[in-house]
Amino acid sequence: MAEDKTIIIQKLMHNPEKIRNIGTAAHIDHGKTTLSDNLLFGAGMISEETAGKQLFMDTDAQEQERGITIFAANASMVHSVNGEDYLVNLIDTPGHVDFGGDVTRAMRAVDGVIIVACAVEGVMPQTETVIRQAMRERVKPVLFINKVDRLIRELKLTPEEMQERFMGIIKKVNTLIQKYAEEQFHDEWLVKVDNGSVTFGSAFRKWAISFPYMKKNNISFKEIIQSCTEDKDEELSKKAPLHKVVLNMVVTHLPNPRDAQKYRIPKIWTGDPESSIGKDMLVMNEKGKLAAVVTKLVPDPHAGMVATCRLFSGSVRAGEEVHLVGQRKDKRLQQVTIYKGAQRIQMEEIPAGNIVGLVGIEEAFSGETVTSVGVDMQPFEAIKHIFEPVVTKSIEPKNPGDLTKMVNFLRQVNREDPTLEIDINEETGEYLVHGLGELHIDAKVERPLRDKGIDIKTSPPIVVYRETVKSVSPEVEGKSSNKHNRFYYIVEPMDPAIYNALMNDKIVFRDVRKDIKEIVEQMVKLGMDRDEAKKIKDIYKGCMFIDGTKGVQYMHEVIELLVQGFHEVVDRGPQADEGCSGLVVRIVDIKLHEDSIHRGPAQVLPPVRFAIKHAMMKAHPSLLEPVQTIRIDVPEELMGNAMGQVQNRRGQIIDTEIERGTAMLTCKLPVAEMFGFEAALKSATGGKGFYSLIDVEFREMPRELTSTVVKQIRARKGLPETPVFEEEE
Ligand code: GDP
Repeated sequence: MAEDKTIIIQKLMHNPEKIRNIGTAAHIDHGKTTLSDNLLFGAGMISEETAGKQLFMDTDAQEQERGITIFAANASMVHSVNGEDYLVNLIDTPGHVDFGGDVTRAMRAVDGVIIVACAVEGVMPQTETVIRQAMRERVKPVLFINKVDRLIRELKLTPEEMQERFMGIIKKVNTLIQKYAEEQFHDEWLVKVDNGSVTFGSAFRKWAISFPYMKKNNISFKEIIQSCTEDKDEELSKKAPLHKVVLNMVVTHLPNPRDAQKYRIPKIWTGDPESSIGKDMLVMNEKGKLAAVVTKLVPDPHAGMVATCRLFSGSVRAGEEVHLVGQRKDKRLQQVTIYKGAQRIQMEEIPAGNIVGLVGIEEAFSGETVTSVGVDMQPFEAIKHIFEPVVTKSIEPKNPGDLTKMVNFLRQVNREDPTLEIDINEETGEYLVHGLGELHIDAKVERPLRDKGIDIKTSPPIVVYRETVKSVSPEVEGKSSNKHNRFYYIVEPMDPAIYNALMNDKIVFRDVRKDIKEIVEQMVKLGMDRDEAKKIKDIYKGCMFIDGTKGVQYMHEVIELLVQGFHEVVDRGPQADEGCSGLVVRIVDIKLHEDSIHRGPAQVLPPVRFAIKHAMMKAHPSLLEPVQTIRIDVPEELMGNAMGQVQNRRGQIIDTEIERGTAMLTCKLPVAEMFGFEAALKSATGGKGFYSLIDVEFREMPRELTSTVVKQIRARKGLPETPVFEEEE
């Protein structure tokens, strides 16, 4: 009789070479959930009835209703290759781009990802987004081309046409891998038919093929087409079972956690690699101190909250105390569990390399660092989200008695999805929810609250803007109220090449002053003058602070305050109190009082803020607004209607492609004009048009609109109609 799976898992979890931590990622409807389900089923982790009737990984009722996976779940399976068992931990990642934060968090826990691409639709916007996210976290890709049955049955393509279609998809995927991967992975990570890092098949009909599998088992492509044409999918799924072929690819081409951590740790953890915890993680020392990262919190009817964690070093033990770095709390682990299918099995101890469910750390949030090192542990780098929140809504319960419930819920949501930021407007007491878009806030906040029976009132959505400048300012003086300290600033727009590199995280550093050497090298590559680059004192939210002074006495004593003043202006710009972006702030001279008592924060910060803000107002200030790049898919004959919707909203159509009766429009639309867009598009296209998000960027607003918008924002924030600068605050 076969050995009990729990016992096998228990053995494998101690053998990192036999573990694969992977995710699946795809454009919506390309078959990711079906694939995850049928992999689990094929590997004998769930019963056939379950796999047939309901999508196993889609547990949340809301997901079922919407038919898309919003929440990443975790499930483990055992797969055998050449007589050797492997433990494959699979995280199902969301496909909807508005919930990009979830995808990123899931990526952090895994070392490899199966990119699922539908053979009929090919590479779609979210395919690009997920590849980009994987590359950011140094997660290695393999490719599964799904729904091949449809090419054969519905589109009746010839083998040559099919091959052409496959090659087209593979080429596009590889172009994206090269576009987003760092140089060292450019070639190594390309997916290839010959070596089996690409498989083709039908997740739904449970068969798949790869070149090595066909060769080894003497199956020809012709046979596959034949069987599929004759509806002999079942036979096919015995000859070339989906789970076997796909999991063979996973085991062969995706790295084990120990190998992966060697190159992933330096990217996702920026602490000292020479420290003992740094070394422990690099070699994945299970005897070392514990270092883990929380990727998700899931409510569990029996255990309260379960935190899904990837262990990078050390071990977790039931009953042991761990430190939550972000929360600054020590907590005792009540349960440490490993997954068998989606079931959690309690263990006494689980070592590094695994994905586990922990009970007892319900205060943790997604991205939280869990350790036994204590307060000195450098936390894992903040999880980078590709899209920042650009929309805000205020929210309040209709019944004031529900306030506590609502606030608790908001806190919980923020822990689960940090891309949803929650804060309180101190002046009005309103709760503000910042999200990636209307749909994001609706799905994650408004609907769940209503489902809980809490009636809420929300404000119309508010767009987040940025302030910047278009020219170099004259030198502007700011003087302290005691007149003894004077600061001279110039502001100017940042070089676009540097700005783009910063925004796309292409410039890698932890601490500007400690890593100045590396920063200088990277800036020089981007065309900055070396001497100039050496003067960078801070980089903050896409803005840079440069010290252009020479030989100023006491400079080192005020530098922290200068940086603080710079941050304060970047957070709240002069035009409308919105954040700044793309700004270079240069201090050119300082006159300081000899006595340190007369150059404290009260004598430094106000004139510094004044001078920077005033300089900005003299440098052609402008306002940037968030603009979404979207792709609209619509039947060709309805293309005109869709275009009308875009053009009505200050939108631009930047590309049109027509393929087999479907028009694909790439458009840019200001977020401010996008509210209600989905409904309008649907009604203009008889429900047939839909859109997906490709990118969000900030773009200069048309001049004629700027002053109106600035006025509106100022009125909303209760600021005087035009900016006033008090030199002596
Ligand atoms: P997800 O959004 O990527 O998770 O996609 P789903 O797994 O929910 O699949 C979307 C739709 O495609 C469902 O109706 C599936 O039944 C269907 N589907 C998935 N895989 C296949 C396949 O291999 N062949 C066919 N014909 N349909 C499939």
